[in-house]
Amino acid sequence: GMTRLSSEGATPAMAQWFTLKAENPEALLFFRMGDFYELFFDDAVTAASALDIALTARGTHGGEPIAMCGVPVAAAPAYLARLIRRGFRVAVAEQTEAPVKGRPSKGPLARAVVRLVTPGTLTEDELLEPGRSNLLLVLAGGGARGRKAKESEKLGAAWIDVSTGVFETASLSPDGLPALLGRLDAAEILAPAALDLADFTSRRAPDAAAPSVETARERLAAAFGVASMDAFGTFSDEESIAAAMAVDYVRRTQAGRLPRLARPVTQNEGGILGIDPATRASLDLLRARDGGTDHTLFAAINRTASAAGARLLAEWLAAPLTQPARIAARQAAWGCLREQAVCREGLRAALKKAPDIARALGRLSVGRGLPRDLAAIRDGILAAREAGSALHGAGGLPHELARVGAFLGVAGGLEKQLRQALAESLPARLDDGGVIAPGYDAELDEHRALRDDSRRLIAAMQADYAARYGVTTLKIRHHAQLGYVMEVPVAASARLKDRAELVLRQGTASNARFVTEELASLNTRITEAAEQATRRERAVFGALVEAVLAEADLPPLAQALAELDVFQSCATLAAGGAWCTPKVTEDTEFALEGCRHPVVEAALPAGTRFTPNDCRLPPEQRVMLLTGPNMAGKSTFLRQTALAVILAQAGFPVAAERACLGVVDQLFSRVGASDDLARGRSTFMVEMTETAAILNQAGPRSLVVVDEIGRGTATLDGLAIAWGVLEALHSTVRCRTIFATHFHELARLVDTLPRLSLHTMGVREWRGQIVFLHEVLAGTAKKSWGVHVARLAGVPVPVVERAARLLKELERAENTIPEPLPLFDTQKTLPHPPENTLRKRIMDTDPDSLTPRAALELLYELRREA
Ligand code: ADP
Repeated sequence: GMTRLSSEGATPAMAQWFTLKAENPEALLFFRMGDFYELFFDDAVTAASALDIALTARGTHGGEPIAMCGVPVAAAPAYLARLIRRGFRVAVAEQTEAPVKGRPSKGPLARAVVRLVTPGTLTEDELLEPGRSNLLLVLAGGGARGRKAKESEKLGAAWIDVSTGVFETASLSPDGLPALLGRLDAAEILAPAALDLADFTSRRAPDAAAPSVETARERLAAAFGVASMDAFGTFSDEESIAAAMAVDYVRRTQAGRLPRLARPVTQNEGGILGIDPATRASLDLLRARDGGTDHTLFAAINRTASAAGARLLAEWLAAPLTQPARIAARQAAWGCLREQAVCREGLRAALKKAPDIARALGRLSVGRGLPRDLAAIRDGILAAREAGSALHGAGGLPHELARVGAFLGVAGGLEKQLRQALAESLPARLDDGGVIAPGYDAELDEHRALRDDSRRLIAAMQADYAARYGVTTLKIRHHAQLGYVMEVPVAASARLKDRAELVLRQGTASNARFVTEELASLNTRITEAAEQATRRERAVFGALVEAVLAEADLPPLAQALAELDVFQSCATLAAGGAWCTPKVTEDTEFALEGCRHPVVEAALPAGTRFTPNDCRLPPEQRVMLLTGPNMAGKSTFLRQTALAVILAQAGFPVAAERACLGVVDQLFSRVGASDDLARGRSTFMVEMTETAAILNQAGPRSLVVVDEIGRGTATLDGLAIAWGVLEALHSTVRCRTIFATHFHELARLVDTLPRLSLHTMGVREWRGQIVFLHEVLAGTAKKSWGVHVARLAGVPVPVVERAARLLKELERAENTIPEPLPLFDTQKTLPHPPENTLRKRIMDTDPDSLTPRAALELLYELRREA
């Protein structure tokens, strides 16, 4: 292993490797050697297997061969992306001095780690998803110096998107942590070991100890060039510490160079709808349970035209608001655009052309800017101006649009400068040359002219020389090592032997290569002019980058374009019909009319219509008990209600005819089996943990939608638990609730719980078959229909028929059993042990959760015992 290795007896290059590796022990070291990044020792073994590339050896160390693998520099981004996705960090060591031509160097070239590539600090398009932000999250507090966190102790959080410069902080109680983690979905988390983050695999312990508050504030102030952090607002102690650690870490990953960051903005805990991770997981907001992004709420509502717009839409969707005024402001912005088709189309056209300014700025600010990044700034400013004209065509803009519109006409001078400076067709990299347009910089033009004139002279010499030496096949060529040479076939070269002015530089099997003094001097002129042109082009490029970074209006312009795109997206969605502007109020009303599930609707086969449903949870009937068989549409109804709240509070259109919602402060959704067997917890344990979380956290302003509480255990147990939970939600938590259940017995609670309403999924029986109407009706389900669903699912007919007969028997037997109240005494009153066991066995199963095969096996078993 690595630890036993010492650099003793290493070659000079390897000694360098040991030094750099020691500075970055947690990262794989990409060690630049010519056109390759090489990895050595354990790094090589790890990377070769992670990247599926050949593992070789290079020299020996301490008598053992040194394991090595390498990737070509040109292909490095793709390999980096794979390593980062696998959770590795990579330290990139470059040669920081250029090899001197023609002079053998004394020692190895100087090398330094120029960058630490980590999942949360990426800037390259190849490594990033265009429509998603990429966050580094740093947590501080929560049991400093090895002490466990106290419940009351506040945590500090700071998150940075290096690719766009977004920088936000929050101070929160440990209770609020899961919701924050779920909302941010950070690519990398630095958190003290004492904090329990359960499943977040992207976490690691910070490299450095937390600074004191004073140091943290000083460092932050220095990073932003202000005298005191007070300039930016009020930050709690923990927030400041987390923010300083985030800045330090980012600086470290960029090898000391701090990318341009927006000034930190504190996000107080209030103001954002609480959505815990389990709720997020059950609702497929940004990512579906299958890991994809197609069947998500985001995909269903996204009509953005730019990557930056898509990122902001995702961000707003992940963090709905709780203040009706802020929600109304967003609604007014897109509501105005919905009415103005021409303006909307103009905006879409302009936004489609808008490049990703924020990410281009991110790269430029860390010195990784490409020629196309400057072009992106130029085109972005132009697109913004076009968007501005389209917008102002609308007239009478609501506040949010006017605010955004104010930033669209800025930076015209910079755009003009870039338009003049950049060549028409840009190379991929600065080193390829030809980035700066002719006529922009006189000195550059001069070097280029000298270079090109000499090249022309050389081209003309070929005909001269051919005539002079009488060799028609003579060529003048450029060789990487030799420079310009005269090349003749071997057969003709004998004739030129005696020519004193010709110096033979190289002979191959077929050709002889000569130089003349004339060629050599032109060669030198070209090389020098080319080198000077390159140097000058770099300087001009650098000055342009500086000009871009100095333009303070650019980040707000980028943000304005993104916001405008989100408003445009909402307007386009709403203009398509079937989406409404919800009324969001301060009270606890709740009325959705003709509400739909946009994702399920989009996935329905052609020719099938989605059945809209109303959902009313007014204060006097705020708890809905929903019964109905499997497949009848219960989960869809529950989810669409939760999604309507998220959309409404994000300030977006809602998939309904009408919606009036009293603001929800926390949303709890437990719908669909969240089998967590991979984590080794039984379904029932998970279910109860989540139920506990709801009962402990929900308050009177919350919305709870739960499906089949108590399904994971024996029937009576389950019924008892469901009963207790429903009572608690109704009478203790007192929140708006939809409670879907298989336990029809719970309907009896309507007599004792005054705010309970009974609803059921409409089902019709037709020639012994079941037809789902997907309609939510008043009342309770008459029966379970489990046997029918089994038939639908393809359970063999004899089994279904046998089960139907058994069901009749059981239903008859049921009548002889006294009322199931009080619940826990029921079992004692059951007669006759033998029958008792049979009945208990049957009642202990949940037909709806059995696989057809398990049902069949159970039936055979029951027959054997009967
Ligand atoms: P349950 O939760 O009762 O088992 P689901 O909500 O999963 O049922 O719905 C089952 C299927 O029925 C869905 O995948 C969808 O295809 C269809 N469905 C559900 N609700 C509706 C509706 N309102 N309109 C049309 N089809 C629906």
